[in-house]
Amino acid sequence: MSLPEIDTDYLLQFLTGLLNTPSPTGFAHQAIARLEQALAGFPGLQVNQTRKGALVATWAGKASGSPRALTAHVDTLGAMVKEIKSSGRLKLTKIGSFAWNTVEGEGCTVFTGKGESVRGSLLLTKASGHIHGSQVNETKRDDETMEVRLDARTASADETRALGVEVGDFVAFDPRMEVTDGFVRSRHLDDKACVACLLAAVKALNDANLQPAQTTILYFSNYEEVGHGAASGFPPDLTELVTVDMAAVGEGQTSDEFHATLCVKDSGGPYHHGLSQKLRSLAEELAIPHRVDIYPHYGSDGEAYWRAGGDVAVALIGPGVDASHSYERTHLEALVATTQWVLAYLLS
Ligand SMILES: [Zn+2]
Repeated sequence: MSLPEIDTDYLLQFLTGLLNTPSPTGFAHQAIARLEQALAGFPGLQVNQTRKGALVATWAGKASGSPRALTAHVDTLGAMVKEIKSSGRLKLTKIGSFAWNTVEGEGCTVFTGKGESVRGSLLLTKASGHIHGSQVNETKRDDETMEVRLDARTASADETRALGVEVGDFVAFDPRMEVTDGFVRSRHLDDKACVACLLAAVKALNDANLQPAQTTILYFSNYEEVGHGAASGFPPDLTELVTVDMAAVGEGQTSDEFHATLCVKDSGGPYHHGLSQKLRSLAEELAIPHRVDIYPHYGSDGEAYWRAGGDVAVALIGPGVDASHSYERTHLEALVATTQWVLAYLLS
């Protein structure tokens, strides 16, 4: 088997657009729409939205007897307005699992019920060093001590409400994407980097006039960060599900920013050995830069489908991402390796 060429400019361009489209879990419709538009450019795909709002693209294969699926998620960490304080500032509740210090000082957008947006930033309630001295360092970051300062003239709850802001409004943190010498630094590379890899794989096959060996479903989920993204929406005769999601890089890990990783076990236990071995053999055969690893605090959409009763083989691959669920970074080499792996699987 030889793999078709990957258009890395397309991959990065699509990734940039997706990263700059806010999509906290529960408010991912703009990212889904962007994706739907991009997929519409490939005539081989039949694209539908589930009632839950995920995007499902079906790609007819050379054979259709044992359909497969690949999944990646467009939703990201974020927050929701929990309270409007008497000061006019906002108390938040987290969406997904992260530590407040990872978004401290970050710019953010509040999406109002009227469809407007208000800019602001997330700060410690005792932010000023000139006023609070050592307390700036000593205060524990939690729901009570973090707040949004809106970039609008408000000093009361009423003035904030007059801006259209209400309890329950979604809040997205700025991605702050930057590309330098192949390094891609941004929030929410988890899992938009993998969505871009899937798109790049679709484009590569399409450009080479190839089609998948088996009919394949590309499932873009919108509720992964809260644990039930890909729990439903697959055809009943599905045989395999390859989850494409970031690899955890750090001390004690084999994963790094220049390889794609096969995860054989995470918090949900071991993945399917047979499917994992098949992916490993493909990577070895095609010299795809890869690692095998275990993630200590991690769950995936493949496991969400298993927990919901999905009777399929599930495996997990993805690019190494440093400082995950914080200010993340990967490298184009890991994105290319992941895309190659997806291509190898599609053609196998
Ligand atoms: Zn993820």
